[in-house]
Amino acid sequence: MKAEQTHYQSCVLCEAMCGLVIQHDGTKILSIKGDKNDPFSQGYICPKAMALKDIYEDDDRIKHPLLKTDRGWQEISWQQAFDKTALAIKQIQAEYGQDAIATYLGNPNVHNTGSMLFVPWLLKALHSKNSYSATSVDQLPHQMLSYFLFGHQLQIPVPDIDRCDFFLMLGANPAASNGSLMSAPNIKKRLAAIKDRGGKIIVIDPRKTETASLASSHHFIQPGSDALLLLAMIQTLYAENLIPINAATKKLAAITLNWEQERDNIKTYVETYTPERVADKTGISADEIKHLTRDFASAQHAVCYGRMGVSTQQFGLLCQYLIMLLNILTGRLDQQGGMMFTRPAANILKAVPKGHFDRYRSRVRQRPEFSGELPVAVMAEEMLVEGSGKIKALINIAGNPVLSTPNGQQMDKALEQLDFMLAIDFYINESNRHANIILPPVSPLERDHYDLVFNLLAVRNTAKFSKALFKKPQNTQHDWQIFLQLAKRLFKGRTWRESASIKLLMMFFLKSGPKLLLDILLRTGPYSHFLGSFFSSKHLSLARLKAQPHGIDLGELSPCLPQALWHEDKTIHLNTAFFMADLQRVDDIFWGSANANSGKTKQKPFLLIGRRHIRSNNSWLHNSLRLVKGRNRCTLHIHPDDALHNGITSGQTVKVTSVSGAIELPAQITNTIKRGVLSIPHGWGHHREGIFLSTASRHAGVSINDISDETALDVLSGNAVLNGIAVSITALKNHEET
Ligand code: SF4
Repeated sequence: MKAEQTHYQSCVLCEAMCGLVIQHDGTKILSIKGDKNDPFSQGYICPKAMALKDIYEDDDRIKHPLLKTDRGWQEISWQQAFDKTALAIKQIQAEYGQDAIATYLGNPNVHNTGSMLFVPWLLKALHSKNSYSATSVDQLPHQMLSYFLFGHQLQIPVPDIDRCDFFLMLGANPAASNGSLMSAPNIKKRLAAIKDRGGKIIVIDPRKTETASLASSHHFIQPGSDALLLLAMIQTLYAENLIPINAATKKLAAITLNWEQERDNIKTYVETYTPERVADKTGISADEIKHLTRDFASAQHAVCYGRMGVSTQQFGLLCQYLIMLLNILTGRLDQQGGMMFTRPAANILKAVPKGHFDRYRSRVRQRPEFSGELPVAVMAEEMLVEGSGKIKALINIAGNPVLSTPNGQQMDKALEQLDFMLAIDFYINESNRHANIILPPVSPLERDHYDLVFNLLAVRNTAKFSKALFKKPQNTQHDWQIFLQLAKRLFKGRTWRESASIKLLMMFFLKSGPKLLLDILLRTGPYSHFLGSFFSSKHLSLARLKAQPHGIDLGELSPCLPQALWHEDKTIHLNTAFFMADLQRVDDIFWGSANANSGKTKQKPFLLIGRRHIRSNNSWLHNSLRLVKGRNRCTLHIHPDDALHNGITSGQTVKVTSVSGAIELPAQITNTIKRGVLSIPHGWGHHREGIFLSTASRHAGVSINDISDETALDVLSGNAVLNGIAVSITALKNHEET
């Protein structure tokens, strides 16, 4: 028997970055527990952590490059796979132009140091305008907000949850997600601490979520109407003279461009959105809105935060803007207990473009790009609609757009008819089944890790380098090696300048990988002065982090403005005219003749929203039996009154129909959902043929995105509308049940 060993590392499965203690014998994992000495998570882990073992041991995980042939998938060498891929891409680009190749980056890329640092080189080699990612079904409004207000798309402030005493949350369920754009392990303990110190947690959501159950109070809201609530709260601030004049608001006024004019503009814009006028539309009474506003304005350390439920709805960007205005007007931005910026030890903001908007547009629907990406809701039509500039091939990197993007059935058809598809992934999922070649990177436990993204969004400044638990097996590749090998082949034959840059990159990084870049980022980061000079042994460096396997604490969040602003004039740009232009659409939808939902969606009796469970992470982890076994979680939440009126009993199969299609799933009758609202979790739907996920296909569920509408967009940002989908329902009789 081999000797038992202990390994420390961060979990890479969600944003919380929990510290793990892994017992192993050199080849097998014996246990995974929380690391009590991790300064950030302090011993906490959630049930998903064990999925790291399941992924590592999964027989379904691909370990060799695969080529699709008439006789099925066939193993080929890495050399063959790289050469065939590069040839196919070059031929398609030569015949149809550079934009004929699209890329889609799935969410796991942001949990992967090598991907974060090296995927830009592959994108640069492809030089295609058809670049897509999961950003536009998630946090695009936050990135656009930060770009416009603070000058950098990733300069995103987070709630200082550990010091606030009034936490107002809209459309967020951190008790299930462990924090989103707010990395916060053991969120339940952090939320309990707010109440223990006499504070309040208020949750606004169409569901009484797991978080709402822990809150001081919860208000059901009509899906898609959060913008009205926020407008009415800001209107109340002005109407009741609740905007404080104190050191915090004076500081923000001093660093906001044209503050007095913008403050007056805001007053004019919100003037007609009184609590009385929006009460019926939101489902929250005028008195409750006024009380909420007064309590928020008078609390000592308050913060307002909105997440998926508000980002992925018809007014996603406007909602995030109004949330930020509420924080700014009441002096909560950059203040203890408010919305604060982090000081990450390795700050990738310098390496990532600040962002740009509307430099070019999508071919079919003329949607503007943001920072080199088009909204993923247009990707399928760019593949299907004939004409010059049509997408002919896709490189799908750790993504599953068939389950994750709107109108998954259309996406499925679009991928099927491509001339060529490459998947860089170690699973054959619902999207990758259409690939011609699959290049599998190593598993998460076979690569080093430093969290470049989520330290940027964490509620405390910490730093930790995790060495790979297991050595990379022979004849396997890291993600970053795959990107560089492909980039090298694609750059071949280009101009001297382009070829030279990739040759230089290969020379430096093909051996060192992300470590060299990471070391440079750490040595040039904000803790250089704190710990010594660049060459000092005390300097925060990779070597220093490696010597601290539990990670190091760099302290609580601290005020960063105006230094953290990226606009050249070092001010906040409120850009009221750009954001408030969306009020016309608000008026049209709520008081005019427009449909309650944008896009092709017609009026239907119910509004459908998504939900998340702590044992799921998008579509990634459904091949872990320990996470999916037991009671079926892919159910339709319906209010008891709605079930009664529609003749639905508990467990009965219900057909849910939208303009995009229909799905059938069992009903779960619950008074935790607002009347007239239905909820289905996302990430399920593993019933399609050809996937190679044995556990997932046994616990298939249905995909909510088979009935979401790809034409329904938050018009201001281009983010997909995944919450507030108009649907009808039919109770199926026994003989119709599936
Ligand atoms: S909360 Fe997230 S980071 Fe922590 S153990 Fe669970 S999946 Fe991993």
